[in-house]
Amino acid sequence: MSSFNNLNSAEISAKDRQYLWHAMSPYNPNQAPMVVTKGNGSWIEDMNGNRYLDAMSGLWCVNVGYGRQELAEAAYEQLKTMAYYPLSQSHLPAIQLAEKLNEWLEGEYVIFFSNSGSDANETAFKIARQYHQQTGSPSRQKFISRYRAYHGNSMGALAATGQASRKFMYEPLGRGFLHVRPPDSYRRPEGMSVEDFNLLCAREIEERIIWEGKDTIAAVIMEPAITGGGVIVPEPIYLDEVQRICKKYNVLLIIDEVICGFGRSGMKFGHMNYNVKPDIVTMAKGLTSGYLPLSATAVRKDIYEVFKEQGEFSHLRHVNTFGGSPACCALALKNLEIMEKENLVERSRQLGQRLEAEMAELLEHRLVGDIRSFGFLMGIEVVENKETKEPLSPAAIGKIIAECKAKGLIIGRNGDTVPGYNNVLTLSPPLSSTDEDLDFIIRTFKEVMKNQ
Ligand code: PMP
Repeated sequence: MSSFNNLNSAEISAKDRQYLWHAMSPYNPNQAPMVVTKGNGSWIEDMNGNRYLDAMSGLWCVNVGYGRQELAEAAYEQLKTMAYYPLSQSHLPAIQLAEKLNEWLEGEYVIFFSNSGSDANETAFKIARQYHQQTGSPSRQKFISRYRAYHGNSMGALAATGQASRKFMYEPLGRGFLHVRPPDSYRRPEGMSVEDFNLLCAREIEERIIWEGKDTIAAVIMEPAITGGGVIVPEPIYLDEVQRICKKYNVLLIIDEVICGFGRSGMKFGHMNYNVKPDIVTMAKGLTSGYLPLSATAVRKDIYEVFKEQGEFSHLRHVNTFGGSPACCALALKNLEIMEKENLVERSRQLGQRLEAEMAELLEHRLVGDIRSFGFLMGIEVVENKETKEPLSPAAIGKIIAECKAKGLIIGRNGDTVPGYNNVLTLSPPLSSTDEDLDFIIRTFKEVMKNQ
């Protein structure tokens, strides 16, 4: 920032327009992107001194909140001691973090580090395919995922993604990715119970496996609860059934914990809310609370064992230069230490319960069709008409979001209820939020909704 000190905010915004290509945001000549200059706790500040409570934790990732000096120091200390070495060999922060992740996962896993959630999922896909090749099932190359799910932006992870609007301009993507219906109970067929609908959705996976040829499927990938696709939280019976099906057909179960992991769901990992034991777990975001890029693919020990056999091509032929960089690992370790010291997993559960209880009255609102929560993560589905469940118009949704922002509250917008149609307002605040922060979120959101 120092060379910008003599520029006013209009001049900085002009430079932003000239040089930066922003993610997912249409170019708007009348509204410059917010330039964020500071963060502390759950709050951020823009270059004009406006403060906002970031109830999306950036992109669902700043789990321990902003401004943690210990995290900066952990990275700084490591950078001074040993800044870089690839993980084709090893270094201490990676070993320590891999051990710590085993503790968090409550199982025996071997950890492969990468840079992003997309990377972690790509790694999982390659491991799944190679595992089947090395265990005598080379025809198992396909993956099953769900519509509305998001798994990343690279050609394989995007192929696994079930949101047409993000994909159609970039095809052909990675091949062999199939999609089934997500257990969106709010939009289930009339007259069907939630349990029966969840069972039906899970059984669609079994049907697909059979129709495709039961020896052609490498893995199923899913989030414990769909997040970016509109906060779709399954019933326990859904994941019980998915697990049964995967076991029966020798299909690996990859659980994408990129958002749900690290306390977001009120448990250490989202899948721990269910009776499910994944074969592969992918994680990113909350692993470093977004302070530095780092992701991980945790692979069940006995799957890894298959890769240990001697032979030129028996090891994983996969590398990324920056994956598991020492400073990122050191920072992640400190991040997990903070979560443990401050009991943030438990805190997430408590905050989530309070949020759920206090927002419930909004179900009476004429525009609120459904409210769904998963730990300290909430989706509020807004509709034009409660009978038909027609999604609220993009303009009306934009107005709610803008009015929240004008009052100092940043919320998200997700869904893909109809391709590209994001009518689920989302809340995913830092797990370190204070009681007052939560009061502010609830009060502000309700005030805004009163005027709609
Ligand atoms: N999986 C899920 C569930 C995600 O939400 C995301 C990102 N929002 C990704 C994977 C991809 O992560 P990244 O953006 O770090 O590549």
